[in-house]
Amino acid sequence: MFSKTILDFGRKPNVIRDLSAYAGRRKAEIGAEHVFDFSIGSPNVPPPPEVHEAMLDLLTHADPVEIHSYTAAPGLLSLRKTIAQSINRRFGDHVDESGIYVTAGASGAIAMALKGLTNPGDEVIIFTPHYMEYLIYTEAYGAKPVIVKTLPDSFQIDLPAFEAALTEKTRVVILNSPNNPSGVIYTKESVKALTDAMKAAEKRFGHAIYLLSDEPYRELAYDGVEVPYLMNYYDDTLVCYSYSKTLSIPGERMGYLAICRRCADYADVVDVCAGAARALGHICASNLYQRVIERCVDVVADVNFYKENRDILVKGLEDLGYTCIHPDGAFYLFLKSPLPDSMVFCEKAKAYELMVVPGHDFGVPEYLRVSYCVARETIVNALPAFAKLAKDCGL
Ligand code: PLP
Repeated sequence: MFSKTILDFGRKPNVIRDLSAYAGRRKAEIGAEHVFDFSIGSPNVPPPPEVHEAMLDLLTHADPVEIHSYTAAPGLLSLRKTIAQSINRRFGDHVDESGIYVTAGASGAIAMALKGLTNPGDEVIIFTPHYMEYLIYTEAYGAKPVIVKTLPDSFQIDLPAFEAALTEKTRVVILNSPNNPSGVIYTKESVKALTDAMKAAEKRFGHAIYLLSDEPYRELAYDGVEVPYLMNYYDDTLVCYSYSKTLSIPGERMGYLAICRRCADYADVVDVCAGAARALGHICASNLYQRVIERCVDVVADVNFYKENRDILVKGLEDLGYTCIHPDGAFYLFLKSPLPDSMVFCEKAKAYELMVVPGHDFGVPEYLRVSYCVARETIVNALPAFAKLAKDCGL
């Protein structure tokens, strides 16, 4: 017999990928310019020139055997040192290379941390709206996701709801800021309240509760809004970082897990995460790309392009009567569904060739997600279609 849980993961539809495939079919049928695909969150800004320059230089001048060989499982020591120095320079003195593990994107880091830190029956707190895959990684290892609602309208932490969810079985809390799908950045006040509650719960229950900071969008914050660095608030923090969006290289699968060196049972946490990576079949991240990252560790793609897209989209939709959560970061807009069920609304939108994602799988069915990592003209040309849709829904 197969594991029913794992079989179900394989069979569960992926709403975003299905919508994106549908958009592809519609483009072939009626022409790409008539289809407005806001489904998927894949960067459309090219990687900064430094990335290709580094690749070309490595391919031209480095030893071809060396740059394609296996590396140590946690990554090249020189890269891990470079990442640790970059974190400490930017955010405070938190990590050394022993706590840096180079992974296949943030996904690789989250999966290995959850596998390493949880035992079957442990609880993992996840806030709405949430990235869908958290549930898969949590359940795959026999832990239990505990979904906690955030405050309506602001989507900041609802402290009483969070405190009520903390139990003796809580092992991990996941926070994603800037948030996919809402674009919300948790404020310093939210982070302080959350981490104070976690410290109190650690004391009460007598064991560590780890905070997993999932931050693929850290660099995508607009108008100078600060994204608090969680290790400054809480020692039992592990950061899951990604270069997918920062450097526009999602297909290269590069990221890291950073473990705060002041965390409880540090040596064991380092080893259990390494063990989890091994159990998950991780051998090492791409050697060539580790070298590219080492040269581009503080480089960022053109974030301003996304900010301008956001401004045009938010203004355009608000002028039409839509209500949205003002996104301070990432490249997603969370729109209140004009119909009570966003699934019905998103189906209706397809009649206008608008592909937007219902909020059900993010845990908020009254909202929908619009990914604005698209060409500028897609936004501009989609606004008349959004206008017709608004009328159709009585806005
Ligand atoms: N976490 C969140 C919130 C995301 O939105 C994504 C990707 O979209 C990931 C993790 C995974 O990113 P990566 O490509 O780094 O695995």
